[in-house]
Amino acid sequence: MPQSANSLVRDIYQQEGYVYARSPEEIAKTYGFSRVARLASNENPFGPSPLAVAAVQKALATMHRYPDACGTGSLIQALREYHGDYEFVTGVGMDGVIETCIRVLVNPGEAVAVSVPTFSFYGLAAKAQGAEVINIPRKDDFTVDVDAFIKAAKETKISFLCSPNNPTGTLTSRADIERIADALDGILFLDNAYVEFSELDYRDLMQKHENLIIGRTMSKVFGLAGCRIGYAFVPAWLKSVYEKAATPFTVNTLSLAAATGALVDQEYVDRSIRHVRSWIQKIRDTCRFPVLPGGANFVMIDTTPMTGDACAALLAEKGVIVRSCRSFPGLEDHYIRVCVGEDWECEQFLAGINQIC
Ligand SMILES: *Cc1c(COP(=O)(O)O)cnc(C)c1O
Repeated sequence: MPQSANSLVRDIYQQEGYVYARSPEEIAKTYGFSRVARLASNENPFGPSPLAVAAVQKALATMHRYPDACGTGSLIQALREYHGDYEFVTGVGMDGVIETCIRVLVNPGEAVAVSVPTFSFYGLAAKAQGAEVINIPRKDDFTVDVDAFIKAAKETKISFLCSPNNPTGTLTSRADIERIADALDGILFLDNAYVEFSELDYRDLMQKHENLIIGRTMSKVFGLAGCRIGYAFVPAWLKSVYEKAATPFTVNTLSLAAATGALVDQEYVDRSIRHVRSWIQKIRDTCRFPVLPGGANFVMIDTTPMTGDACAALLAEKGVIVRSCRSFPGLEDHYIRVCVGEDWECEQFLAGINQIC
């Protein structure tokens, strides 16, 4: 590395970036486990849908060709069959969609508003684009302070709100989303990465609001985190500018095929949701620490008097990986986030946490 490397790298990339979970291999090796419970990344533990696997196998033979531009062909078709007649854009994970939306809408120096504590990538992506990030605190119970949100986000080009919220799990009502969308001058990006696990459905709000984007992902209930594919419901006017700003041929042939296969396996999705709901209930009933209300495939747990890091470290010694919430901006340091895994993983977690208490 040249000595002047620090002056070559943009300032934003010299600060803390995305925080990844500790690796299962490292924890297994350090504490002598043959397998560890992986409950830190909100993935689907069931393995991919067999229909997704079959679709990828078929697509392997076409790898020598570039994929459909912007995933326009079969995936958009499959999304329409799944959701109805909406406009969609696709990306490398919803993360890719978020990044492209900011690239399309925000000039350097302009403001982006984020309801916090929440998923860190909105702020990171906005700063990387040279934007100013306005963090809007949620209330003490982590519900959105709608008036404060509107006041702070009113003039921004784009603002981000996550429901069910990561990491708190908190749901925001359709009425609150509508009030916010109506009041803003710019776009409201509603992150629905976990919406399938909740009882809420915001999709038809697209028909009433020209300034709403609803982000979705194939990484969670659809079990394709490793394929890196996400999409969003967008107003019609945004689709063509989005496609101009996106990296060419962003989503690869195999991921497009996997997503198309996963979207037709409703039984897999239903089974995943049933499994998650029943374990969330069991965790609420038996965990000795307070479990916050929420509607995702994970829960946030208050570990007071321990810090999130201390609790995550104790659980790692018991062969369970959870996410300490320390790095979420705007959150006090006494929470962990735990997702539903396979039965044995959830059992190992509950046994572990209840021994700590
Ligand atoms: C997991 C997650 C995403 C996106 O994940 P991708 O894998 O990039 O599709 C987006 N928002 C939230 C809140 C998430 O937790």
